[in-house]
Amino acid sequence: MSRQILVTNALPYANGDIHLGHLVGYIQADIWVRFQRMCGHTVHYVCADDTHGTPVMLRAEKEGVTPEALIARVHGEHLRDFTSFGVAFDNYHSTHSDENRWYAEDIYRKLQAARLIDTRSIEQYYDPVKSMFLPDRFIKGECPKCGAADQYGDNCEVCGAAYAPTDLKNPVSAVSGATPVLKQSDHYFFRLSDPSAVAFLRQWTTGANHRGVVRLPGEAANKMKEWLGSEGDNTLSDWDISRDAPYFGFEIPDAPGKYFYVWLDAPIGYFASFRNLAAKRDDIDVAAYTEATAAEAAGTELVHFIGKDILYFHALFWPAMLHFSGYRPPSQLCVNGFLTVDGAKMSKSRGTFITAHSYMAQGLNPEWLRYYFAAKSNGSMEDVDLSLDDMIAKVNSDLVGKFVNIASRCAGFIAKRFDGRLAACDSAVFAPCANAAASGDIARAYEARDFGKALREIMRLADVANQYVNDEKPWELAKAEGQEARLHTVCSTALSLFKSLSGFLKPVLPALAGEVERFLAIAPIAWQDVATPLPEGHAINSYQHLMKRVERKQIDALLEANRDSLAPATEPAKQATSQQRHAEHQAHGAAQEAASPTIVIDDFTKVDLRIARIVSAEHVEGADKLIRLTLDIGEDKPRQVFAGIKSAYDPATLTGRLTVMVANLAPRKMKFGLSEGMVLAASGDGPGLFILSPDAGAQPGMRVK
Ligand SMILES: [Zn+2]
Repeated sequence: MSRQILVTNALPYANGDIHLGHLVGYIQADIWVRFQRMCGHTVHYVCADDTHGTPVMLRAEKEGVTPEALIARVHGEHLRDFTSFGVAFDNYHSTHSDENRWYAEDIYRKLQAARLIDTRSIEQYYDPVKSMFLPDRFIKGECPKCGAADQYGDNCEVCGAAYAPTDLKNPVSAVSGATPVLKQSDHYFFRLSDPSAVAFLRQWTTGANHRGVVRLPGEAANKMKEWLGSEGDNTLSDWDISRDAPYFGFEIPDAPGKYFYVWLDAPIGYFASFRNLAAKRDDIDVAAYTEATAAEAAGTELVHFIGKDILYFHALFWPAMLHFSGYRPPSQLCVNGFLTVDGAKMSKSRGTFITAHSYMAQGLNPEWLRYYFAAKSNGSMEDVDLSLDDMIAKVNSDLVGKFVNIASRCAGFIAKRFDGRLAACDSAVFAPCANAAASGDIARAYEARDFGKALREIMRLADVANQYVNDEKPWELAKAEGQEARLHTVCSTALSLFKSLSGFLKPVLPALAGEVERFLAIAPIAWQDVATPLPEGHAINSYQHLMKRVERKQIDALLEANRDSLAPATEPAKQATSQQRHAEHQAHGAAQEAASPTIVIDDFTKVDLRIARIVSAEHVEGADKLIRLTLDIGEDKPRQVFAGIKSAYDPATLTGRLTVMVANLAPRKMKFGLSEGMVLAASGDGPGLFILSPDAGAQPGMRVK
C-alpha cells in the first residue's frame, strides 16, 4: 500500500555555517526519502532555518545589519550547501514567516484554552547596561564546582558540572561585560507537569505508530523513561516558553513585551514549511498531515530526523504541544549521533572542523561523502566517525574499483563491436541480483536506516559481477576467433548487473545513478524494476567516465583550508544544545589563497611592524595550538601575544630569539587573556610554520618598513 509521509530534518540555526557534522542527519534523511520515493510512496520532505532568539539578534547587531538581513543571507548559504550535497528538500522555509507565526499563535491559544499555560514570576540575571535578561550562555563566571574561570552559565567545560547561572561565582554578562543583577519578570509556562501531559507522554514515548513501528528508537525510549520516572513520580518540570524583550521572535498574543522562546516556534517550523509548500502546489492536503483527526483518517505519517542533542525537545515538549492543541504527534523519530573526525571531536586547530562549503570549494565529489556516511550508518544513535583514510580507501575500492569498474570494462565492446546494442542477459548470471531484490533484504535495511548493511549486501553483489567479468575476460574474447556471440552476452549481462547495482545504490548516489541512466538510455530506475535486466536489442549511449578516485592530497588540501590562522577569541554563545554549540564555532569558509589586491604605500605603513625579542614563551593550559609569548619591543612593559605556533615550535627554543611583530593590531580578548599584537610566520600548502627573524644587528623596537 502506498504511504503518505511528511519527512522533516532538524532546523539548522541561522547564525552559523553548515559543517560536515550537520550533514550526517541530512544525508541520512535524504537517502531514506529517496528510497521511499523509489518504492512509489508519496513523500513531502521539508526543512527551514531556525531564525529566532538572542544569538541571532546579537550577531546581527554586531554585524550592523538587521536580523532579517542576517537570516536572509544565512538562508541562502544553508540552502546552497544542502543542495550541493544532493539533500533535496521540497521546501526550505524559515521560522520567521507568516505561516510560522500563525501556527505558533494557534497552538499557544489552544494550549491556553486547555488550561495548560501558566504565568509566574521568576528571578533571572539581567544586564543593566544592555537592559536585557541574559540567556544562560551569555553569562560567564567561575565554575562553582572546580573554580575554572570563564565558564558559561549552564555548564563547565573544564569539569563538566551542570548548574544554574545563579551558581556561578563572579558572574559577568558576555554581552556587555557588566556584572548582571537579579531581576523579577513574569514568564509563561507550558504545564508539562500536568498529570494529563505526563500520562500522554508515558504512552507516546513507549508505544508504536499505526504501522506498528516504535515511535522512538529503544535507546531514546529508555532515556525518556529516566526523564519521565515511573507511575506516580512527578519528574517533569513546566517548560518556560517566554522571553522578555528585546528578543528577535514572535510576540505572544495579548502579552506585550513577551516573546515565544525560540524552542517553542522552532519545531513548529516543520508545519510552517509544509504549509508554505502546499500553497505553491495544488495537490497537498495540509490537514491530512498535520491535524489529529484528519491525519488518523488518512493514515499519513510524520517522520522527524533529528540529532540526539535535541531529543528532549522532540520527544517531550513537541508531541505534548501537538497533542493538546489538536494536532497530530509525530509517527516516528529517527535519531542520529554526532560526527567525530578520525575518532576525535571536530577541531578547528586540527582543521577537522570542515564546512560543507569548503568541501565543495575544494572540488571534492559530494557523493563520496554520501557514500561514506551511508556506509557508517546503522540506524542507531551511535556517533559516526569520519576516518579520512578509511573514506579514501572505501570510496576508491567500492565505488571506483568494484562498481564503476564493471561498466568501464564492458561498455566499450558494446559500442565498438555491436553498434551499441545489447544481447539478451544471461539469467543464470543475473540470478543473484534478482534474488537480492526478491528477498527484500536490501529494502528492509534501507527502511530501517541501516544503510551500512544495505551497502554491504550491494557490494557483495558487485563482487559477484566483477568475478564474472574476471572469469569471462571480455578483452580476451574480443581477440579470440569465433567468440563474438559470447563476448556480446558477457558484456550485455555485465551491464544488466551494473544497471541493477545502480538502482540499489540510487538512494545514496542519486547523481551517479542519474548519469548511469543516461549512459544506459533507460528511464529513472524504480525499486520495482531494480532487478529487471536490460532487454535484448536495447541501444545504450557511449560510456563516459563515471567517477574519479579520491586522492589523499585533495583531503589534505581540505584540512588545510579549514585550519584556523588564529585561535579565535571565545564568542558569547547561545542556547545550550550541542548542535547549536557547534554552529557557534563558525569557520568562515575556506581560507582563499588568491592574490591580494594592489595597495599603495600608505596602506602598508599603517601596519606598525617592530623587531621583538621573545622574553619568554610558554605553553597555555587548555589550548592545543597556542603559545603565550612575552615580547620586548623597547616599551616600558613587555607585550603579551598568543601565537598559534605550538605545532611547529617548542617554547624552550624560542626564548631569547628576535622576531617581527605587528605592534598596532587592536588588542584582542581571548579565552586565555589579552593578546596585544601578532607575530609573523610563513606557511604554505604543506605542513610547517616558520616565524621570521631579522639579520644580526637588529634591536628590539626597531621599525620594519
Ligand atoms: Zn568546573
